[in-house]
Amino acid sequence: MSATPSRPSAADAPETSATDSATDSATDSATESAAETGTETGSGDRRRVLLAAPRGYCAGVDRAVIAVEQALEQYGAPVYVRHEIVHNKYVVKTLEKKGAIFVEETGEVPEGEIVIFSAHGVAPEVHKEAERGKLATIDATCPLVTKVHKEAVRYAKEDYDILLIGHEGHEEVIGTSGEAPEHVTLVDGPDDVANVDVRDPEKVVWLSQTTLSVDETMETVDALKGRYPNLLSPPSDDICYATQNRQTAIKQVAKDADFVLVVGSPNSSNSVRLVETAIAHGAKDGRLVDGAEEIDESWLEGATTIGLSSGASVPDVLVDGVLEWLAERGWEDVEIVQPVEERMQFSLPKELRRDLRAEAAARMTG
Ligand code: SF4
Repeated sequence: MSATPSRPSAADAPETSATDSATDSATDSATESAAETGTETGSGDRRRVLLAAPRGYCAGVDRAVIAVEQALEQYGAPVYVRHEIVHNKYVVKTLEKKGAIFVEETGEVPEGEIVIFSAHGVAPEVHKEAERGKLATIDATCPLVTKVHKEAVRYAKEDYDILLIGHEGHEEVIGTSGEAPEHVTLVDGPDDVANVDVRDPEKVVWLSQTTLSVDETMETVDALKGRYPNLLSPPSDDICYATQNRQTAIKQVAKDADFVLVVGSPNSSNSVRLVETAIAHGAKDGRLVDGAEEIDESWLEGATTIGLSSGASVPDVLVDGVLEWLAERGWEDVEIVQPVEERMQFSLPKELRRDLRAEAAARMTG
């Protein structure tokens, strides 16, 4: 556990990251190129891309990825990571090349090693397993997921039945349910409301997964209120700012788009929701792709305006690849559609900050 850390913490990071700059320059050059050459199809329609902003990395994902990179620098490879640190194939492969080993369960990590918990959060039982295995843990759970965990613990202590709106089997849902398994019932969308059973209809609260569709969640809440008029709401939105902002931006893009491309992996809940939201708000069609290589040119036949966004776990280099792919086929004119600004940042997990401070202090005295 030696290497000297050189990367700034998330809290110290400049607001414009290297990946932002890469996309900005790709966008600028695409726009310049469009201005120079003009971009028209044979029929005279102007081909353009509406690029949603905000898109891509949220503060929780940025923090989790930096935590793995920083741990590799600080302690040396290998560093074990329980589950995909974030739901994106490219990010996982890149970290694997740097020395991260991804495992499904804590029990797969050799005794005494370091394990990082992913941004989606884990149940208390997983922390106990790590203790039993004498593992050093770094908890990269997004602070906004931790907030939902704390709400679950609090309402369970007050003996509420907790109706957790979310997708069955999603890691975040498993982690949150694990905080109070006796009190939590999963509600997987409006159609699941009829199956809900509670002990006391006067003492029921709803919580939600952070990465759901805002509109569908409110539909589920309305249906629950139809059954339980005194249903309590959480003190603040559980659906996180990043999920909401990306949905707000894609709704605006979708109004004018013939086809929407969302960059993201199929197991990324917020990415999948972006495609659904786009189609529900006016896009004629849309697809989720992990990168430019997955785009089928036949999807875009007859399309003039392409909407483009990416999920909260997607680095901008993948969006740059799609912009280049589109530019090569005549969609060189890129307009940014940004209905909302986003500037959230989170500091690194406390275990890493502690070790970085200790190392800095040792350097000062040594
Ligand atoms: S999508 Fe939201 S809850 Fe999930 S990691 Fe990003 S900021 Fe956190």
